[in-house]
Order: sequence, then C-alpha cells, then structure tokens
Amino acid sequence: MNKVFFTNDLSKTAELFEIAGLKEIIQQDDSIALKIHFGEPGNTAYLKPHQVKLIAEKIISYGGRPFYTDCNTLYQGRRMFSKDHLLTAEEHGFTLEQAGAKAFIPEEEDSLEIDVSLKHFKKVYIGSNAGNKIFALTHFKGHDVTGFGGAIKNLGMGFGTRKGKLKMHQDCINCKEVKTCKRNQTLEACYFGSSALVQEKMAEYAYGAVKNKKCAYFNFLINVSPNCDCYPFNGPPIMPDVGVFASFDPVAIDQACLDKADKIKSIYPNIDCTIQLNYAEKIGLGSRKYQIINL
Ligand code: SF4
Repeated sequence: MNKVFFTNDLSKTAELFEIAGLKEIIQQDDSIALKIHFGEPGNTAYLKPHQVKLIAEKIISYGGRPFYTDCNTLYQGRRMFSKDHLLTAEEHGFTLEQAGAKAFIPEEEDSLEIDVSLKHFKKVYIGSNAGNKIFALTHFKGHDVTGFGGAIKNLGMGFGTRKGKLKMHQDCINCKEVKTCKRNQTLEACYFGSSALVQEKMAEYAYGAVKNKKCAYFNFLINVSPNCDCYPFNGPPIMPDVGVFASFDPVAIDQACLDKADKIKSIYPNIDCTIQLNYAEKIGLGSRKYQIINL
C-alpha cells in the first residue's frame, strides 16, 4: 500500500514536498523534467505557474535543475510544433521569472525508442525531454476518451511523441482496410481506438516513460473541468476544489484523486475509467491500494 500525501491548502505545496520525502530523488546538478500540460490557448483550467512554482523552487533548493516540459500534440493547434508550443507556454506564464524555471519542448525527431515488450507495444516513442528524473505535475480532470486525465495520462500520452500519440489512439489492426491502407503508417491515420484500448496503450506508454527512472508525482484536484486542457475552452468547474496530492506512485495518486472526484465518472457513464488504473497496476506501474496521509 503506497503512501499518498494530501493538503487542501495549495500554499502548503512546499510542505507537502517535504513530508512526502520527494527530495530523496534529487542529487546535485540533476536535470529534472517537470512534466506539465501548458494548456491550449483559450483554456483557463490548466495548472498556473504560481501553483507549481513552489515545486521548482524546492527542487532548486536541493541542487536540482528543473525545467517545465511537454511533447507536441498530434492534433492541429498551437502546441503542435515546438516553436509555437514554447510560445504558448511562455504566454501562459511558464518563464523563469513567473514559474521559477524555463520551459523546453523537444523536436519530434528527438524521439527515444523505449523497449517495453507489453501486450500492445514492444517499444514506445517517448520524447527526449523525459530524461532520467521526472516530477509529473498533473491537473486532474475529466476526459472524453479516457474518462479522466491524471498522472498516468500526463506520463503516457504526454511524453508520447506525435508518432507515439497516434499509435495510442489508432486501432488499424481491427480495420477491414488495413491490408490496403497507405495511411496507417503515417501521421494521417485515423484515430479510431476504443476508450479501453486507448487507456491500456496509454498505460504502456506511461510505463515506458518512467522505466528505470526516478519519478515523483503531484496531482492538483482543482478547477476540475469536464474535459482535457487540450480544448481551447473549459467551462466552469464541475466540483469544488479539493487540493493537492503528492506520491511516488502514479497509480496510487490517480486512484486517490478519483476517489475524491466521483462526479467525473457521472459525466462519462459509458466510459470505464478504471481500466487505465487496473491495467497500469497489472503491468507494474504502481498500486491502486494506497494510504492517504493528510498534512
Ligand atoms: S488509417 Fe484508418 S483506414 Fe487506414 S487502416 Fe487505420 S483505421 Fe483503417
């Protein structure tokens, strides 16, 4: 049973960092990826620089060198290519002055092939920005394909390159045109995967993103929007803010958030969002059983 630390007071995020013992993965001059979603222009629910700056400052105080990062999107928008994506991050305040660290977006060709040898994938395509040490800073919210978006999604879909994101979304194997289709090996292929398939594939990518690495997780259960921060809008929150969670286990922290956010399940009654948790646990990413420790 892994520990998940919690506070309902976001101003105590640095204390949460301490009590969760997250400094143990930081060594002098370590480069540390702060994996975050910078928010599509027009969206206002994404995590804000002042909400995560305390984490960057803590890492620096222990000798680490943090940088905010994400991989480019498969869909068209202002986070599709590195230059625009970086500008979006800066427009949303992810600068050294406002966020305590700079932002970095890798190019598609900097993709790493990580061997996972799991049910759906033998290897996964992960951005070079994942490095060796990761703090995943996740805005926990609803999602119209996976039911909810938490740490598993931030790692898996988030660290997947555009090619990787396509592979997570598509289901060409079960398409009757697969033998003749010329699009299925390109970024123009269809996004046909079922929710269950996408959730399992996403968990395999998350497994690849953190394989042989030291990682820690913060989930923010605030501004809970019904949908992903990839949309250029979000609407009002579907529930009151809960707080911030910290853990070394991406499955335990997502389970703890989902247990506090039952409302998300009612928005997508046809999606079983526990598939990603069950499958992530099955492949060894973490544990659904957790012990909550209140600050
Ligand atoms: S790209 Fe579309 S049409 Fe082609 S095999 Fe895949 S699902 Fe079928």
